[in-house]
Amino acid sequence: RLPRLYKDALSKKSKEYWDYERMIVKWGVLDDYEVTQKIGRGKYSEVFTGFHVPTNKKCVIKILKPVKKKKIKREIKILQNVSGGPNIVELLDVVRDPLTKTPCLVFEWIDNQDWKTLYPKLTPYDIKFYLYQVLKALDYSHSQGLMHRDVKPHNVMIDHEKRKVRLIDWGLAEFYHPLNEYNVRVASRHYKGPELLVDDMLYDYSLDIWSFGCMLAGLTFRKEPFFAGADNVDQLYKIARVLGTDLLEEYLDAYDLELELEVEQRLGKLPRKPWSSFKNKENSDRCSPEALDLIDKMLRYDPAARILPKEAMAHAFFADVRKAHS
Ligand code: ATP
Repeated sequence: RLPRLYKDALSKKSKEYWDYERMIVKWGVLDDYEVTQKIGRGKYSEVFTGFHVPTNKKCVIKILKPVKKKKIKREIKILQNVSGGPNIVELLDVVRDPLTKTPCLVFEWIDNQDWKTLYPKLTPYDIKFYLYQVLKALDYSHSQGLMHRDVKPHNVMIDHEKRKVRLIDWGLAEFYHPLNEYNVRVASRHYKGPELLVDDMLYDYSLDIWSFGCMLAGLTFRKEPFFAGADNVDQLYKIARVLGTDLLEEYLDAYDLELELEVEQRLGKLPRKPWSSFKNKENSDRCSPEALDLIDKMLRYDPAARILPKEAMAHAFFADVRKAHS
């Protein structure tokens, strides 16, 4: 039960790289920044645009809500590790209010267009181009021993004018240590991999490919979110309505996992739906055989059966993007 690639990524790094609990944060100067406007509000933070007073440069200031010190250190350490990697949001500074001790993360600002308005107007080529950029970010973070664990449209910032993509929100990201058991309460419901929904704690980087696959399916079929579960059990049901229950059973058997009786009864027996059955008048321009094939290779119950980011980047679906960049 090890990932096919990058299983030993952390063994090549110094302890300092992953031992985030021992990190001593070097706090910058809070007064260097001024807040201008609130742009987002999450479970763990309030996010503002602002600027760096000495240079007048626009930035994003993420003011963290009071959570465990350990979680804050993890987000900072991970950001420091991957910041500057391909299509990964750049962390510019970490500052703290000397009185309240509230930590703030300062990021590069991306002139993002909300996905709800942007996605409907993207061309098939735009979709390929932007998704390819996200795969680059994922391959890089996995190569650095990190799983993002919250891939979803909200966390992919796109500046359409500049054709710039940044993967943001590393607040749920975690270091991959081989054979470690991880908390399954990660990712946003509609993007949760089956492993999270069946309590399979031995998961790895391939979780990110499931979430990414949900985005690819959502964009391809113009159905976002593609699996719209109302709660975690319903989420698994929505997945099983597409992939069927036979393959789910195969996955559970292969790793000695069991569903709770109540969940098993809720699912019943469901047939597998062909990907082509999601094609309709509105999305047919996006439903190339290559797109459907790539979706099929990502959305697999068994995490080990999913295509890797590197392999996905070499898939026929991205042929035009690779050509344009060579
Ligand atoms: P959530 O609970 O929704 O995951 P969070 O508290 O983890 O949120 P982020 O996801 O990092 O916080 O940021 C919240 C929102 O702020 C984003 O969805 C985005 O709209 C905006 N945002 C964050 N970083 C940037 C950035 N660098 N440039 C532009 N907008 C950003």
